[in-house]
Formats: sequence, structure tokens, C-alpha cells
Amino acid sequence: MSSSSSAQSRVIGGKIEFFCNCNRQLRVQTSTSRLNPGKRYVKCGDCRVYEFLDDDLPSEYYKELVFGFFQRQRGVDSRPMVEALALERSRLEEELKVTKTTLEDELKTKKAKLEVYDRLFMVMLGCLCVMCVGIGMSISK
Ligand SMILES: [Zn+2]
Repeated sequence: MSSSSSAQSRVIGGKIEFFCNCNRQLRVQTSTSRLNPGKRYVKCGDCRVYEFLDDDLPSEYYKELVFGFFQRQRGVDSRPMVEALALERSRLEEELKVTKTTLEDELKTKKAKLEVYDRLFMVMLGCLCVMCVGIGMSISK
């Protein structure tokens, strides 16, 4: 039996930390298996140390209860995430559409303004030409 190579607990900064005999710090995890639902455990992949920190649940009824809780949590937890992501995506798409139309509108008004200025410029140029010709004609007379 490998009972000698068990995890050691030390209190570091007010927190209980677990270490393997190989000095590796072990992360406390919670089992969600049907056999040991809700029981915390530490595991060292190098030494194959696997130790439960909690006692067994008193009956099969409790095991089923806790296992069911994890099953539900798994199912319920992923759905709002997906929904939230889909919502965020459609919101961004909507925002993009709005930005696009605003930009297009802005571009249209700018283009319209530019056309007005263009026309105004042509009119002024025309006037200038007429005036020049008039002046030229009056001088040449
Ligand atoms: Zn180890």
C-alpha cells in the first residue's frame, strides 16, 4: 500500500495548503463523480497520490442528491452563458448596423454639401468669366 506517500497539509498565510511528499503543491478539487460527489480531493499526477479530504456521504440518497446537483449545475450553467454570448453578438451586430447607417448618412450629407459647393464654385467661375469677358470687351473697345 502507498499510505506512506500521503498528502501533507500546511497552514500558509492563514490558508491550508496541501503538499505531496515530492514537495509539489496540490490543488484542492471537488469531485463530481457519481461515486464520490461533492468530496474534495487532492491529487499529485507525478506520484499517483490521490487523497480525499472529506468523509463519505452518509447514504446513497445523499450521494444521488449531491450528484444531481452537479448534473443540474452543469446543464444550467452552460445555457445562460450561450444565451448571453448570442445576445452580445446580436447587440454588436445591431451596433455595427447603426454605426454603418450613421456613417453612410454622414457621407451622404457631406457629398450633398460638396455638390452644393461644387455648383456654387461653377456659378462663381461662370460669373467671373462673364465679368472678365465684359471687362476685356470694354477695354478693347
Ligand atoms: Zn507528488
